[in-house]
Amino acid sequence: MIDLSRYRKDFPILNQRVRGKPLVYLDNAATSQKPLAVIEAIQQYYMEYNANVHRGLHTLSEKATTEYERAREKIAGFIHAPAAHEIIFTRNTTESINLVAYAWGRKFLRSGDVVVLTEMEHHSNLVPWHLLSSTIGIELRFIPVTPKGELALDALDALLQGAKLVSLTHMSNVLGTINPVQEIVRRAHANGAKVLVDGAQAVPHLPVNIQELGCDFYAFSGHKMCGPTGVGVLWARGDILEAMDPFLGGGEMIKEVFLDRSTYAEIPHKFEAGTPNIAQAIALGVAVDYLSRVGMENIARHEQEMANLAIEKLQEVKGLRIFGAAERRGAAISFEIEGIHPHDLATILDQEGVAIRAGHHCAQPLMRKFNVQSTARASFYFYNVPEEIDILVEALMKAKRLFGHVS
Ligand code: PMP
Repeated sequence: MIDLSRYRKDFPILNQRVRGKPLVYLDNAATSQKPLAVIEAIQQYYMEYNANVHRGLHTLSEKATTEYERAREKIAGFIHAPAAHEIIFTRNTTESINLVAYAWGRKFLRSGDVVVLTEMEHHSNLVPWHLLSSTIGIELRFIPVTPKGELALDALDALLQGAKLVSLTHMSNVLGTINPVQEIVRRAHANGAKVLVDGAQAVPHLPVNIQELGCDFYAFSGHKMCGPTGVGVLWARGDILEAMDPFLGGGEMIKEVFLDRSTYAEIPHKFEAGTPNIAQAIALGVAVDYLSRVGMENIARHEQEMANLAIEKLQEVKGLRIFGAAERRGAAISFEIEGIHPHDLATILDQEGVAIRAGHHCAQPLMRKFNVQSTARASFYFYNVPEEIDILVEALMKAKRLFGHVS
């Protein structure tokens, strides 16, 4: 197995005990930990050059502006965007998707237009379309999920009839399924539909090349990829961004303002109203540098090996059922143990220092599809090591004993 354990020392938070046990952090799909370089970048901004961007002509403001715009360039390079001005800083994936729903959807969708989603979407790629559906009257259709946790693409061409947009997750935060985005984009475009990809779980874990994917919009969050909370990204093709109206109005996004009307700044500034999340965006640039040093190919390979090993070892726990068995998958693994509520499982594991997630993972329709209220989820990152899988399995065995199950 590829050994990335040398990077653990860069994450001060990992080196602690929880309830007397060494922390085993397996809730990376919710948020990742941050390397020292990222934490220091935030501190350095506030200690050395805290100032507003794009306004002052003084030295600190120039430095802040340069660093903020440099972060935009780094992020463009990281996902192979053709131009930095196609990168919009938002708060998170949720805001990025809402930006498209409001600023593109309200301008270009009409009553009866079709938006195609999937049954495995996170609420943040469902609710914005529900809102649009109740205001404009768009029709929502859903690509079904198979029992293996893959998209049933034989249904796609029929679903695409009359569709203006397909919006889907690149990787499921529940099942770990990596969807065949390239193929879906090809088929959507052939039917005249644009494609928005929710990359919240993909950009942190896989090399992502938006030009190869061919999509029109791509959304992700900084906090799941070693960056701080409070910053996310929307990439969209430049011509589409030009054609869209602004999302929020205010300072920074204007060209000229009169009492009764305004004209707007060029992209990306047209979509960044008010003082942006300067420190967070700069620190996300540092996170991207860090991930590039580790190497996204290495990260993907390590996580693939960790997922295979974890699935193999989890199956040794009698009564444990894993949800989803996709051919292409990442290292987010949802499961249940017969007779133990996932919340109880998470609480018992916490006693052993093991942090997992239990709940509906903001994917209630997918939970219904699998006939459960909630699941337990262990999700790995490149700094996790195989020994942590053993600790997880040991803790699950202990939970079973506590509940009176024979192992
Ligand atoms: N989409 C997916 C697939 C996710 O996993 C998440 C976070 N759990 C989101 C969207 C939302 O991300 P955020 O809360 O950072 O907006």
